[in-house]
Amino acid sequence: HPQLRRDYTFENFVIGENNAFAANAALAIAKNPGTAYNPCLIYGGVGLGKTHLLQSIGNSVYGEFQNLKVVYVTAEEFTNEFIASIQNKETHKFKTKYRNVDVLLIDDIHFFMNKTETQEELFHTFNALYDANKQMVFTCDRPVSELKNISHRLRSRFERGLNVDLQPPSFETRYAILKKKIEQKPIHIPDEVITFIAEHVTTNVRDLEAALTKLIAYAELVHRDITIDIAKSQLKDMFTTTKQTNITIDLIQKVVADYFGITQSDLRNKKRTRTVVFPRQIAMYIARELTEYSTTEIGEYFGGRDHTTVMYAIQKIESKMRTDPTLDTIIAQLIREVQEGTK
Ligand code: ADP
Ligand code: MG
Repeated sequence: HPQLRRDYTFENFVIGENNAFAANAALAIAKNPGTAYNPCLIYGGVGLGKTHLLQSIGNSVYGEFQNLKVVYVTAEEFTNEFIASIQNKETHKFKTKYRNVDVLLIDDIHFFMNKTETQEELFHTFNALYDANKQMVFTCDRPVSELKNISHRLRSRFERGLNVDLQPPSFETRYAILKKKIEQKPIHIPDEVITFIAEHVTTNVRDLEAALTKLIAYAELVHRDITIDIAKSQLKDMFTTTKQTNITIDLIQKVVADYFGITQSDLRNKKRTRTVVFPRQIAMYIARELTEYSTTEIGEYFGGRDHTTVMYAIQKIESKMRTDPTLDTIIAQLIREVQEGTK
């Protein structure tokens, strides 16, 4: 299938307590597309397996039901394609294409926030497919209730059917995933190294893979066996966020504002409504994590706030993160977006 990665299959997906509900829903859908859970929306933080599961459905249906038309598209591609179709006066082509699929898989629907016209088009696509009992599966980086600037009627469509979440994997699942990934590689990695990675790389599966890839590359390029000491020294930078010098508070504010569907000036002004206070605290926390600015300097970037306000915000976020794993995931994602924004 032209749009699907061949290795994103159910066989390669390790099921743990963190993803069993979503994975089994995906399996059920792949067996009975259009009837089981329709539509289905899988949500969760970055690197937790949303794309892998979504494409597994695609690969499975594509292999098992040759007569069914499977389309996988990211929300961004869908949007770009729609805009291009308007510019080329070919919206009829676009409509025909998407209203004649049997299984429509749309990845990262949070991208539709603020895309009013694309939302409108998707709404009609959704209705056409839904009425024809065609399968739709979506992924999203947060629960639908937390999406901003999505039309009420489209939101209610996403909430229809089944919404399931992916959580970060536990130690046991991280260990099982590493084992599975190593199985496919012609290399020996001692058990204590696998345990070490599973203990220390706790964020998500993408980071687990990155740690493994680095060790394997090291073994290949430096021609040495992987030992626990090598693992410790090679992976130490992955456990702490190293401060990049090119990160600005302006960029952090932009990323955070985008994520919460507010403006950058909301973060800088004196407003104290809940919708802006929490994002502002998160932005301050990230500024402290990723830059060398003092709390006084950070305060200046947020509308001349006192450094004690900044310190309070940071403590608040830290204590919330300890009790709320989803906040942890959200912040990890925002940090990644900021870091990527400087490349
Ligand atoms: P997301 O779309 O949620 O950001 P991805 O689906 O891209 O995450 O997953 C990140 C990486 O981790 C991919 O290479 C994927 O194959 C792998 N991965 C995620 N979850 C699992 C799992 N349960 N078993 C095996 N590999 C996984
Ligand atoms: Mg993805």
